Amino acid sequence: MGKNLMKSPKTQNKMNREDFPILTQQVYNRPLVYLDNAATTQKPQVVIDALQHYYETINSNIHRGVHYLSQLATNEFEAARRCVQQFINAAHDYEIIFTRGATEAINLVAASFGRTYIQRGDEIIISEMEHHSNIVPWQFLCEDRGAVLRVIPISDEGMLDMEAYTELFTEKTKIVAVSHVSNTLGTINDVAEIVRIAHGHGVPVMLDGAQAVAHEPVDVQALDCDFYCFSGHKMYAPMGVGVMYGKERWLNEMKPYQGGGEMISSVTFEKTTYNDLPFKFEAGTPAVGDVIGLRIAIEYMQSIGVERIRDYETELLHYGMERLSQIEGIRFIGTAPHKAAVISFLLGSSHPYDVGVLLDHQGVAVRTGHHCTQPIMSHYGIPGTARASLALYSSKEDIDRLAEALLKAKSMLL
Ligand code: PLP
Repeated sequence: MGKNLMKSPKTQNKMNREDFPILTQQVYNRPLVYLDNAATTQKPQVVIDALQHYYETINSNIHRGVHYLSQLATNEFEAARRCVQQFINAAHDYEIIFTRGATEAINLVAASFGRTYIQRGDEIIISEMEHHSNIVPWQFLCEDRGAVLRVIPISDEGMLDMEAYTELFTEKTKIVAVSHVSNTLGTINDVAEIVRIAHGHGVPVMLDGAQAVAHEPVDVQALDCDFYCFSGHKMYAPMGVGVMYGKERWLNEMKPYQGGGEMISSVTFEKTTYNDLPFKFEAGTPAVGDVIGLRIAIEYMQSIGVERIRDYETELLHYGMERLSQIEGIRFIGTAPHKAAVISFLLGSSHPYDVGVLLDHQGVAVRTGHHCTQPIMSHYGIPGTARASLALYSSKEDIDRLAEALLKAKSMLL
């Protein structure tokens, strides 16, 4: 025992679309062009195999078992924790808390940090470009505690107004929670600077990394953020698993999130004491197979190289913006100079939903709507956008197919 039983992916030096079986499908008799990666990415064969292997050979509940399979599953689960630690360069493996996704991770921070530190009148800074997952949990907290939400405005390019940000701090500011990369605008925020400014006021920062980890190398120690949250399913791993990274000093002080098995040290009806990190924040049975799948997905990305993925997607983004800007009547929402591979747009006066349906019928999958960022839509005074979001298996051919399908949609709509 001790050695990893799950097969690690082999090193490869290019993006291999063939690794993703779902992409070989046809939809409406056309080869599938999947451009909805900000919603969820597809899974490589190695991750699918890992899940099957787990359920065929290892499946067992972890940590409390003396028996053989339970120990195997525990070893694999803890190996995954060390893999995530190394992936985001956390100082300790027990700073990695497994959750069901970014949403649960953010709810955990808001609830536990809130119960521990937030008092009536305290202030929490978020931004106008946040996903609802990074707005609503803080609103819950504000309602419960009588705290106040302060919002960093965005410019029309889709960038945070950093001057306004610096002016939001008061003695009452207790935490800043902002996205690393916007799922709607694609903007990559200068999160190191955001952290530096907040720390200058003695305020901790939580970063929502849901749209960053699959596209940008992330080093939580270099960023010096206090919390970093993300989902596995947006980075080639199964659905149902995510990560909340927190600095040890906060996690030690913070009250637990959920109560249940595993998170306790002892329970009597009079008093319960809590387990050590990371288990204090992991109540109940986790998604063991999915956590192991997350490790394989990380290793898969590393077998290509996260910098290489970033550079490839950036080149593709530029190609895409260039190609689509040739279509008369297209309007991009989110034009920051430092962007991840997300292209949000409107086509003339047509409704994004109609555009999405017409693209779909040509085999091109994009997302339409407000993308769980209604305040961004209010900022621009629009009902929604169509959004094409790229991944490591996206190609120039995909962009060409999108452009052709858009021209056809335009001829039908406008
Ligand atoms: N934050 C951002 C920026 C997102 O894009 C998303 C999902 O789209 C989330 C949080 C929530 O992620 P999940 O639904 O995987 O919990």
